[in-house]
Amino acid sequence: MGGCPEQHGLHYLSKYKSKIEPSYRLLGQLVHDCLAYHYAAQLDPLPDWFQASNLDDQLQIRLGENDAELVPQAKEVSRAYLDRFAGDPWTPIFVEKEFKTTVGALDPHGPMPELDEELVTCQVDLGVEGNGAVWLVDYKCMGGEWGKDRLPAWTAAVERDYLWQALVNLHVVRQSIPNVKGFIVRRVKRRIPYDFDSNQIRPKQRMYDEIPRTIRYAVKRDLELSALGATPSALRRNYSMCSGKYGPCDYVDYCHAKDELTAQDVLDKNFTRLVSPSAPV
Ligand code: SF4
Repeated sequence: MGGCPEQHGLHYLSKYKSKIEPSYRLLGQLVHDCLAYHYAAQLDPLPDWFQASNLDDQLQIRLGENDAELVPQAKEVSRAYLDRFAGDPWTPIFVEKEFKTTVGALDPHGPMPELDEELVTCQVDLGVEGNGAVWLVDYKCMGGEWGKDRLPAWTAAVERDYLWQALVNLHVVRQSIPNVKGFIVRRVKRRIPYDFDSNQIRPKQRMYDEIPRTIRYAVKRDLELSALGATPSALRRNYSMCSGKYGPCDYVDYCHAKDELTAQDVLDKNFTRLVSPSAPV
């Protein structure tokens, strides 16, 4: 989560979603959809979302007003992925599934006991079973390095063993499935020539053990931001967050509009409000 209260309000509380996604991000989401439908077809029983809508309809909904070329491109990337990993020795057991627990279950007898009943959730791309163990699998679509055919080297020591999402998922899912063995990141290079790899996240034990307490403090921060309310206000903007490593914040045209009227116009034209998001997301 970002450190801008306005962003939190617009994204999580008011649920404003950009109508025009950056094509790289949307392509990644479409690839997720293709893989979700592929693996969900192997589940028994089939997930509700799978029965409610077929893949092509889901892709059209996801595409919205964006470039239609992204759909065949996403299908091609996901076919290449499935060819590359055709020998996977495991069986899918859940797809795009949400898991829930509470702060108190994760971090018993922690400080601020008033937070114990707060929900902590996560959504997992794919859960698989093999040799009596369960693995969580997450796809990460990336562009690759300019001028290079292969994915950049996986440097586990730097950022990836600290992947917050992996650490939270492991803790949350292990509340309901204790024999989760680990978290695997499947990297997908979305440009030709395609490239893929598979890497296990290996957090250090001490850090892993301290994650539930960190979650407690993160939930506290979320509640503080939510208490500020969803109504936009310049006082709640953290302009230092507007431009990040992966480009500008989605709401930059809104927050940087010359006056309130123009800002409202940006919201009306460029965003839709998601009322009840449903899997796959
Ligand atoms: S554009 Fe800047 S101020 Fe506005 S929500 Fe994003 S980070 Fe916050």
